[in-house]
Amino acid sequence: QIYELAEQFLGVDPALAPIPVRPAVHYTMGGILVDGRCASPLAGLYAAGECSSVGIHGANRLGSNSLSELLVFGRVAGEEAARFASSVAPAAPASVLAQAQAVEQRVLGIRQNTRGNERIATLRKEMAQTMEDGCGIYRLAETMQKTCDKLDELKERFKNVRVEDKSSVWNTDWLLAIELEYQLDVAQAMAYSAINRRESRGAHQRLDGFEQRDDVNFLKHTQAHYVAGGAPRIDYGPVKITKSQPGTRAYGAAGEKAEQERKASHG
Ligand SMILES: Cc1cc2nc3c(=O)[nH]c(=O)nc-3n(C[C@H](O)[C@H](O)[C@H](O)COP(=O)(O)OP(=O)(O)OC[C@H]3O[C@@H](n4cnc5c(N)ncnc54)[C@H](O)[C@@H]3O)c2cc1C
Repeated sequence: QIYELAEQFLGVDPALAPIPVRPAVHYTMGGILVDGRCASPLAGLYAAGECSSVGIHGANRLGSNSLSELLVFGRVAGEEAARFASSVAPAAPASVLAQAQAVEQRVLGIRQNTRGNERIATLRKEMAQTMEDGCGIYRLAETMQKTCDKLDELKERFKNVRVEDKSSVWNTDWLLAIELEYQLDVAQAMAYSAINRRESRGAHQRLDGFEQRDDVNFLKHTQAHYVAGGAPRIDYGPVKITKSQPGTRAYGAAGEKAEQERKASHG
């Protein structure tokens, strides 16, 4: 399969030339804060899978744990949501309608903004680039700060986003704009969380004096809150450790040494 992909997409014959390899986003650790029943702090909102943070992955999801998580917590979320729905009185129609209208007004506003001059593709590309620069594999305060600043700027510029297609049906341009606004929120949550975490842990690897894990100050979940626009407020929640103690993710000789140290310290 890999042979075929290299040939078809890159025109590279792996028998004759190396296959180009580069990093890509593979998984998002963290997400909507939920408990073991997949319930978020917002009553009635349940989340499971990659959009959620059910708390099992720690700072670096291990290979294949995502699919097993989906099997377990997808079922839990469904059952719990059904239980919740059958245990509460239906919401007042007027309040549901008011909520729907508020969302409608907001997303309609994005499409109807005729004064906008910012292109969706440009903002999206700049967002991806700044995340790559500041929140990639190795991280430094200076570049993370630039990313935080750039994301603040992009959020401001998003207010002038222009949806070229004004139709109300099957409008993918509009959909991309709505998604982009949420993506900017997620990107900001990640960048602000990262710069505040002055240690290295799991997939968060710093090269600016914070190369080691710091359990004294940072054995905790970062939580990003959006209150009234602007940058997210960062605070922290407890980590519940059951069987697996935090360890060093290392390979080869370094991995073996770390494993021996872990066994020696935890018995
Ligand atoms: C290249 C790659 C390889 C991977 N390999 C593995 C592996 O070997 N083992 C492993 O365990 N994990 C692996 N993962 C991770 C795993 O595939 C994902 O974490 C998992 O599929 C996420 O499932 P999900 O249901 O949470 O989200 P998704 O599969 O992303 O599903 C979300 C769904 O919601 C839909 N959606 C989005 N917005 C809306 C909306 N507004 N309205 C309605 N629907 C919407 C999307 O279209 C999508 O179908 C891999 C990931 C990648 C990218």
